[in-house]
Amino acid sequence: MGRVLNFYAGPSALPLEALESAKNEIFDWKGTGMSVLEVSHRSKEYIELHNESKDLLRKLLAIPGDYEILMLQGGASLQFAMIPMNLLGDDQTAGYIVTGRFSSNAFKTAGTLRKVYLSVSTEEDGIFSRLPAPEEINIETGTAYCHLTSNNTIFGTQWKVFPDTGPVPLVCDMSSDILSRKIDFKPFGLVYAGAQKNLGPSGVTVIIIRNDILERSREDLPDILNYKVHAGKNSLYNTPSCFATYMMNKVLKWVDKKGGLSAVEEQNEKKAYLIYGTIDKDPGFFRSRVEKQCRSSMNVTFNLPSEELESRFISDAQKNGIIGIKGHRSAGGVRVSMYNTHGTDDIEVLVNFMNNFINRNG
Ligand SMILES: *Cc1c(COP(=O)(O)O)cnc(C)c1O
Repeated sequence: MGRVLNFYAGPSALPLEALESAKNEIFDWKGTGMSVLEVSHRSKEYIELHNESKDLLRKLLAIPGDYEILMLQGGASLQFAMIPMNLLGDDQTAGYIVTGRFSSNAFKTAGTLRKVYLSVSTEEDGIFSRLPAPEEINIETGTAYCHLTSNNTIFGTQWKVFPDTGPVPLVCDMSSDILSRKIDFKPFGLVYAGAQKNLGPSGVTVIIIRNDILERSREDLPDILNYKVHAGKNSLYNTPSCFATYMMNKVLKWVDKKGGLSAVEEQNEKKAYLIYGTIDKDPGFFRSRVEKQCRSSMNVTFNLPSEELESRFISDAQKNGIIGIKGHRSAGGVRVSMYNTHGTDDIEVLVNFMNNFINRNG
């Protein structure tokens, strides 16, 4: 079977076990004589899968009882709009911490809909290589929430400790590191994530929202954009993304079987230690552009001494069955996206390749 080592940033590699299980059930799911692709979203079997997926999310992420879980469509990008639409009254504002492309998009989208302001941006010449220090973050009076991105997928930075915004709740895009480590939900009013990095395939977006924040949802919105409507209908207001939820369910069960977030977090730390150790061993060859204290354990970005060597690195990797490591077009260089699916052994293969490449070209 010709499986490659897939380091794409998203959609990204899925556990083989989840794919195999889906393959086995493709003609007959749960004895229905139908595929999950064909079954009604109002059927007993689907509702069971839907609710079980929510329960698994709550269990694995240790989501407290006063938070509602929504599973909607439209990706994280739709949340860039739904969040300010629902949560901001006419006399309120929200602060945005901009540390990468997606947080910048979130800020721009919100600005077309409601009154928001820039709390801080760490952009320098179009590049984001760091996170702000606490004293750089500006919170105005009348701020309903402060938005940030926990892991910057394109540039490879990740918050290790979230900023303290006092009574102002954090609203966080966790698309690329949800389920990769334990989180304390206390400072968060709302957490959201598109599934296609750590949770499953694209098509379903998870929104975790504290009940008092949910209650704030504005009435003057179309139902399809209203959090309270979706919550009232258990995220089945309209046809959900059944197959994406089905695959997410399999990924969640796989994580549970591995030992949950403690096991996953430990593995992710080991993987980061392996690859950053290799980068740092010869700093004249592999060059990390990111400040050390905020290096992402999910998306590892680095450069080589020349663009020519970078191209050769990427094409040699491909010849060795290692794919998806070309940096995002706005950042260049190399990016390795190593989500939960990748084991330590996968990173060892990559690190061996990196060491061999230095021996041949260094
Ligand atoms: C991938 C990603 C997105 C984009 O999500 P869509 O589902 O394509 O809208 C947004 N934010 C972050 C942090 C991401 O990694």
